[in-house]
Amino acid sequence: MIVDVHSHLFDNHERIGDPFRSDSQRAHGGFVDLTVRYEEYAASAPAGTRAIVVGGKARLSGLWVPDEQIAAYVAAHPELVGYLALDPTQPGWRDELEHGHQDLGLRGIKLMPMYAGFDPAAPEYDDLYGYAERNELPLLVHTGTTFVSAAPLKYAMPVHLDEVAIRHPELRMTLAHLGHPFEGECIAVIRKHPHVYADVSALHYRPFQLWHSLRLAQDYGVWGKLLFGSDYPFTTVDASIEGLRALGEVAGIPGLDPLDRDEIERLIHRDGLALLGLD
Ligand SMILES: [Zn+2]
Repeated sequence: MIVDVHSHLFDNHERIGDPFRSDSQRAHGGFVDLTVRYEEYAASAPAGTRAIVVGGKARLSGLWVPDEQIAAYVAAHPELVGYLALDPTQPGWRDELEHGHQDLGLRGIKLMPMYAGFDPAAPEYDDLYGYAERNELPLLVHTGTTFVSAAPLKYAMPVHLDEVAIRHPELRMTLAHLGHPFEGECIAVIRKHPHVYADVSALHYRPFQLWHSLRLAQDYGVWGKLLFGSDYPFTTVDASIEGLRALGEVAGIPGLDPLDRDEIERLIHRDGLALLGLD
């Protein structure tokens, strides 16, 4: 079975506001339709794939997917596990947290510190992290760069989550996209903390960078802390698996081993739901 720990729901591209939309068009050379339909997701993934589905809230960047939509989407598809999303710079986030968890039954939390413009290590968010830790709600935290000009890159750096993990050692966290291009920093963080993982979503189309990052993970002995993810609809599960396997075919550098193909297969088949306490 494949577990995709990072997939999105955008029900309607009209809901994606500026600057996210305009900056996306600038970066991608035109309009990209991000509307998600489950049939298309399932058709581009191996049969039986299970997925964590997130929306996203970041007022600064123009993103706001209501948690109700995630709840309705996952209720219709038992293979899916839904997360609520919070932008703690906005009033009302504490009510949204309790509503999403207690009323809607969502099972984790998506945070986008860079897109929302907040320092994830700031002590004022300890209430959020404490709630998640007590209620066993894993976090999916965006780390890594973006095309959105207004989003401060410094808040995308994995090192901030080191501080969060020190203060909340039982909190399960996934750092998205291996923190690219701060993969080395991301590996240093996941290596330290037993409950902090990184996903490898949306990286295979930069194969040199991903090969290099996985090779670094291999040297550090942290293959087991890497989780499979797609970042659908930006790419698909099938394309992500294919991209990872292609890296296994890359020869090593003289004096350095190639990537361990067995570890690549273990990554592709890792049960991220079990590791995040979502079985
Ligand atoms: Zn994503």
